[in-house]
Amino acid sequence: MNRLVSRCLNNSRNVNQAVRQYSTQVSQHDIDNEPRFLECFKTFFDKAAGLTNLKPGVINNMKECNVALRVEFPIKNEHGDVDIIAGYRAQHSHHRLPCKGGIRYSEEVDLQEVMALASLMTYKCAVVDVPFGGAKGGVRIDPKKYTVAQREKITRAYTLLLCQKNFIGPGVDVPAPDMGTGEQEMAWIRDTYQAFNTNDVDSMACVTGKPISSGGIRGRTEATGLGVFYGIREFLSYEEVLQKTGLTPGIKGKKIVIQGFGNVGYWAAKFFEQAGAKIIAVAEHNGAVYNPEGLNVDALNKYKLQHGTFIDFPGATNMPDAHKALEIACDILIPAALEKQIHVGNCHNIQAKIIGEAANGPMTPNADEYLLKRGHVIIPDLLLNAGGVTVSYFEWLKNLSHVRFGRLNKKWEESSKKMLLDFVESTVNKKLGDAERNLIIHGADEIDIVRSGLDDTMTNACAETRKTAIEKNTDFRTAALYNAIMKIKAVYESSGNLFS
Ligand code: NAD
Repeated sequence: MNRLVSRCLNNSRNVNQAVRQYSTQVSQHDIDNEPRFLECFKTFFDKAAGLTNLKPGVINNMKECNVALRVEFPIKNEHGDVDIIAGYRAQHSHHRLPCKGGIRYSEEVDLQEVMALASLMTYKCAVVDVPFGGAKGGVRIDPKKYTVAQREKITRAYTLLLCQKNFIGPGVDVPAPDMGTGEQEMAWIRDTYQAFNTNDVDSMACVTGKPISSGGIRGRTEATGLGVFYGIREFLSYEEVLQKTGLTPGIKGKKIVIQGFGNVGYWAAKFFEQAGAKIIAVAEHNGAVYNPEGLNVDALNKYKLQHGTFIDFPGATNMPDAHKALEIACDILIPAALEKQIHVGNCHNIQAKIIGEAANGPMTPNADEYLLKRGHVIIPDLLLNAGGVTVSYFEWLKNLSHVRFGRLNKKWEESSKKMLLDFVESTVNKKLGDAERNLIIHGADEIDIVRSGLDDTMTNACAETRKTAIEKNTDFRTAALYNAIMKIKAVYESSGNLFS
């Protein structure tokens, strides 16, 4: 197809020179004609379903979205006029209840996007053994264009419609944050739901990703980024991945490029930096910055909050064309922004050895096929960004049990460990220092339990995906989807209703 002329220069002052150049016959028309997100997902699904022995009818049933809701509601704008806002919620599968999935605020939101994201959620939950069906919601607004008071009105109006249509509830459908939403929106959703469901003792569990004061759980905010970190850490210990990429084991010293510096991108960057990796470039919608020696993540975040952009961040090279950051030579590329960012138009220029999909759907099937053939390792979205829904599951459990994790057993655990340690010290006639004693005796707090549960979940899901990839001689995305399909099939078969 395209002839690749690579020219990789080391001069860090001119980033364009560090980006692989190529001659291409790919036109804007080819890029525009890439399948839409929903079709992209279905293409990936079909590839994995092709490895199963399921009948076509069963496969089609598993692929399609069960229900989708589209609503429109009026909101008074600052000029006293009325804006009509479109909102969506899709529930892909009810094989397990409740359905679960984030709510996105973006001008790009439409029904097919929400259906694609809901489908992805079903398989994501299955990959990490979170017992939910998949759902997703969206409101078609640019949240930056609205005041806090207007965002509150929009969120409450949308939630009210979800209540009226029975599209929200602890046992029905439980939203969470996604692009353009966070703790604040989740708190408004919880409050609105509660106002219309005063007799529901479990109403706190109608949404996750809430602030602690509204029934949230410690560790949810950073969960997706931390899950991305745990996942890539696992893949960097697999012999076949190291052989294929020529990378050394472990995170330390790895050069990382991140696209999108919101919730997921920021936290992923932070955990990689803490573990000794170098974040050499970060891209936002309005520009990127590059420093081969590594960017300071918190300084960068502070600068972005102050200036609204990375441009002119001290000590870094500006990249006004932020998309070019995806093409920088690095060990690991982490797209953490939007879907379809790696496509027929730029896949030939990707130089990262590992692409860790923190965003949902950041790669088109054409790009995926090309990069796999060229030997890149792709860690797929439905596995790598599942940390968010995993900790959302823990929050839902906390809300249903009405008690903070660790509250009942922390002191008991500490006194048992203290007794054991006292006994060992007296037996060997040796005393530990206070710091060492405290480290051993410390009983688990909520954050310790959440992080340990997240680590365990990601480690197991990565190992299961790897095993299937080896057994089926396939890529990691297909392996993860195959595992998810087989788990969902087992639920349908054991419940014995749908496919009999
Ligand atoms: P966010 O809104 O907090 O951050 C997204 C960031 O991407 C923003 O800073 C935005 O300015 C930036 N961005 C937008 N367009 C861009 C572009 N063209 N180039 C570079 N940057 C761009 O959203 P988030 O919660 O971090 O979600 C990011 C991705 O991760 C989405 O695909 C989302 O579906 C996925 N995800 C999020 C979660 C979660 O828990 N928040 C869980 C799983 C998956």
